[in-house]
Amino acid sequence: MGQTPKHNENGMTPTLDINEIFKASRRPLSSEERKFITDAFTFADEAHRGQLRKSGEPYITHSFAVARILAEIGMDKETLAAGLLHDVPEDTERTLDEIGKRFGPDVQVLVDGITKLSKIRLRGSHEKYFLENLRKMFLAMAADIRVVIIKLADRLHNMRTLDALPKEKQERIARETMEIFAQIANRLGISEIKGELEDLAFKYLEPEQYAEVLEIEQTRVKEGTKYLEEVMKTLRKDLSQDGIKILDIDGRTKRLYRLYQKLKKHDMDVRRVYDFIAIRLIVPEIVDCYEALGSIHKRYRPLVGRIKDYISLPKPNGYQSLHTTVFGPEGRIFEVQIRTPKMHTEAEYGIAAHWVYTERGRGDWRTFFFPKKDAGSKPKEVAWVSQLKEWQKEVGKDNQEFWQGLKIEFFKNHIFAFTPIGDIIELPEDATPVDFAYAIHSEIGNHAVGARADGKMVPLDYKIKNGQVIEILVAKEREYPNGDWLQFARTSSAKSRIRRAMRDREAERTK
Ligand code: MN
Repeated sequence: MGQTPKHNENGMTPTLDINEIFKASRRPLSSEERKFITDAFTFADEAHRGQLRKSGEPYITHSFAVARILAEIGMDKETLAAGLLHDVPEDTERTLDEIGKRFGPDVQVLVDGITKLSKIRLRGSHEKYFLENLRKMFLAMAADIRVVIIKLADRLHNMRTLDALPKEKQERIARETMEIFAQIANRLGISEIKGELEDLAFKYLEPEQYAEVLEIEQTRVKEGTKYLEEVMKTLRKDLSQDGIKILDIDGRTKRLYRLYQKLKKHDMDVRRVYDFIAIRLIVPEIVDCYEALGSIHKRYRPLVGRIKDYISLPKPNGYQSLHTTVFGPEGRIFEVQIRTPKMHTEAEYGIAAHWVYTERGRGDWRTFFFPKKDAGSKPKEVAWVSQLKEWQKEVGKDNQEFWQGLKIEFFKNHIFAFTPIGDIIELPEDATPVDFAYAIHSEIGNHAVGARADGKMVPLDYKIKNGQVIEILVAKEREYPNGDWLQFARTSSAKSRIRRAMRDREAERTK
């Protein structure tokens, strides 16, 4: 490692200008907020003084970049301060207590959460490690969701600067990013971060494929840009003719890793990736979304099966929009996504959008996870958040025990179970392996013959507990579900699929 970083007479790292963070913020910051953030920067800068990253840059450039990412997604002053301070207790002489005294309990809790998350160790089998990580993330989320958001920003910057690390480390970190951090960003609906994490991980995990896809993308963009501009101009004219106000319209190309996934399905033929280009249309109200869709369909024929109403049926992570794919001018195919400004912010920043819209009010973030059921039941939420904090204090270091406690009260009417590869399945309380099987796929449900919960055989009417890993055993010989399952299946989707399969069986018999 080379020279010591230079500091000016105030001890500040001169290459960094805190105003950059203020400018990057999605939310306007008051002078009081700016002062708070500036203080945190000065504190962190002094604490890390003399430390260098692997790249040779002053360490503080990392903390600064993390805070900048957090500002870009519109987080509050405590989160930005915690972003600046997140590596202080771990890597410097300054302690968590000092941070608490200086910046208050909120920032202290956040920095503490990050420090704990960073202590995750690789041990046991790969699968076990993966689940352990997911669980810890959930625990951290329960305490304060902002911890996880800071962690994502931290990982994003580490991925952006991964070149400085040795090859084996690059690969391990990229894999972990793809399998865990991108999944969590997705779960939180922060698609901006999820997309960039995936693309960066892709670059290190499959460099040759990455280069190939990049080349395909760039060629395609070159030939598509002019067309896209024409189409957007036409759409503007069309829609205003129909009296629909457009707040914004722009085109985007698919992210590289997502493009790669699609290309693999279509023999690497980019012409068959219909949503390579998507036009985003932002209109004022929900009703305008549907009107715009009608107006577009009136002129351009939609592709069968590609009209998706995520407004009435949001994706599990809360994503809302109308999607359609149409044969545009010159018969070229493209996708249109129609949404309101609020939906747009939530689509890009997910749970983080919450801080863009409201100054205060942690707790509300749960509506992103449970948009239907739990929205509006706030007093209860606050109660369980404080309950969780109590437990965490009591149990302290033993995560396993804490997780057990969590199973009892957390998500009173909801449980999360995991597939063996770590996918999260959300179920109602008292759900059984049959519900779990149908939640994955009706074919899995129909052919289910047994189940394992955390590795142990359990009957199909077993009541799944929160956090368990459920494996469904299937047999081809079993053609139809057992009618008795109706007595214990909990989800309406499982019940209706069982009934449907039984009707099919009757029809088959009476043929
Ligand atoms: Mn860090």
